[in-house]
Amino acid sequence: MTFQDLNLNTPLYNALDDLGFTSPTPVQEQSFNVVASGKDVVGIAQTGTGKTFAYMLPILRDLKFSKQDNPRVLVLVPTRELVIQVVEEIEKLSKYINNRVLGVYGGTNINTQKQEVAQGLDIIVATPGRLYDLAVSRALQLKSIQKLVIDEVDVMLDLGFRHQLINIFDILPQKRQNIMFSATMTHDVDLLINDFFINPERVSIAVSGTPLENIEQSRYDVPNFYTKVNLLVQLLNDAETFHKVLVFVAYKRMADRLFKKLDEYFKEELCVIHSNKTQNYRLRSIEQFKKGENRILVATDVMARGLDIDNVSHVINFDTPEYPENYMHRIGRTGRAERKGVAITFSTEKEQEHLKNIEGLMQMEIPLIDFPEMVDISTELIPEERPEIKERNNPTKRKDEDEPGPAFHEKKEKNQKVNLGGSYRREIAKKYKKPKTRGDKNFNKRNKRK
Ligand code: AMP
Repeated sequence: MTFQDLNLNTPLYNALDDLGFTSPTPVQEQSFNVVASGKDVVGIAQTGTGKTFAYMLPILRDLKFSKQDNPRVLVLVPTRELVIQVVEEIEKLSKYINNRVLGVYGGTNINTQKQEVAQGLDIIVATPGRLYDLAVSRALQLKSIQKLVIDEVDVMLDLGFRHQLINIFDILPQKRQNIMFSATMTHDVDLLINDFFINPERVSIAVSGTPLENIEQSRYDVPNFYTKVNLLVQLLNDAETFHKVLVFVAYKRMADRLFKKLDEYFKEELCVIHSNKTQNYRLRSIEQFKKGENRILVATDVMARGLDIDNVSHVINFDTPEYPENYMHRIGRTGRAERKGVAITFSTEKEQEHLKNIEGLMQMEIPLIDFPEMVDISTELIPEERPEIKERNNPTKRKDEDEPGPAFHEKKEKNQKVNLGGSYRREIAKKYKKPKTRGDKNFNKRNKRK
């Protein structure tokens, strides 16, 4: 397929010619029509796959020349480096288009940026915090935004930007196209999609460059966390075979918990990265692992993306990833550059369903290895594994005498009032019998489903 098959326009073709790009990357090929259709889009693709052009080509093709000053396209990214990079990419494509592109990010003088905004623009690329500040100070009007792109949304949520994103959604026009790109799927990303996107189309570039034939895959069924630790320790004891091991876990708390346990056995050989660690700590860990000073690196999905580390002997999925794309990204860290790699996955009973999805995506079964007899099976459970016990109205349970009971005096009348919050909104809600705030984007969605 060439770019000619994409039905672009002359200015874009000329810009692509100048760049020397002839054919679209897979994510560009798959995203073009979906983004151009105007529907909400969720794309799963890593940096380096050409995803910036994947959303910018259709947006630029359809962005008509306008003299109005308020931006019509908003691109949100997690870091200032990415703001600069995305602006550069847009400028490359816009060489023969008369449009105005501006990048804004925190940590720099806001007044300079206000002046730049005042000159008028078509596309704004921003980090969430600075964008919000510019909008609430009224230097920037967002009422004309037709397309919202959120890039690297997994990193954004992992860095704790969820509230800032929601604040921004609140001040954007309801009628707009949402386009989101993420390298990995996480539970937080899924929640955001469910809360704010309307029937999004999904585009997924699952395989991360490494051919599957280069990776020897296998798996163990393991009952629980502590037994997984025992098995992992047993494997890692063979330092000669397991000489550069990337151990994946789904989230930070699990990474810390596993690190603490492994630290009892492999102290000097061990390092960890996840988003609660400082940038310096993370860089140091990666360096040490790269150089081989540490043999074992424990990492979360989001942090391990983009890691370009050679000669990883083994990828161990300490948990079975909930989203099959993440499995592909994880195992793609080994078996690079024609070398054979090994990927081993641990699955509990609960994780069998994730396993089925992964096998479905790859259209192959991962061979099961019998659980080694010499490894201890633990019966101890971590809080997430314990069954939830819900006790309601248990008549045999005696009330604790020392438990604080209700106060022995009645509240004064004025203290009995309950603060219900913004009276204006309550009045409006009563009048219209439904929320009339701009923020309630889910209202239509909820009612459509009924
Ligand atoms: P991205 O994934 O958006 O960070 O893009 C990675 C790099 O690939 C950027 O430097 C792009 O300029 C480049 N690129 C994007 N699309 C193409 C293409 N169709 N052919 C060759 N290179 C491309």
